Amino acid sequence: MNDWSEFIKQQKGVINQKVEACKKGIADNPGTGDEQVARQRFKVELGALEDAIIRIEQGKYSLCGCGKTISRGRLIAMPTANTCMECNGR
Ligand SMILES: [Zn+2]
Repeated sequence: MNDWSEFIKQQKGVINQKVEACKKGIADNPGTGDEQVARQRFKVELGALEDAIIRIEQGKYSLCGCGKTISRGRLIAMPTANTCMECNGR
């Protein structure tokens, strides 16, 4: 798997699955007490996932704001990562 476009296609599949899981999570938590906390967490994750999809569509998915490429290992571990290791550590 040396092809980035193939890798990104795979990541998009993973992200879409997570989007569905988040939407379900939001729907399953009507928003009282602890459920509200869970619902909020799903909403935050959903926002990050949608942001990742936008970056995929713009062809910037693996690009950090500093101009460096985010490593595949990092993107596999965290599909919504939008910074390289260095920027993340800052
Ligand atoms: Zn960076």
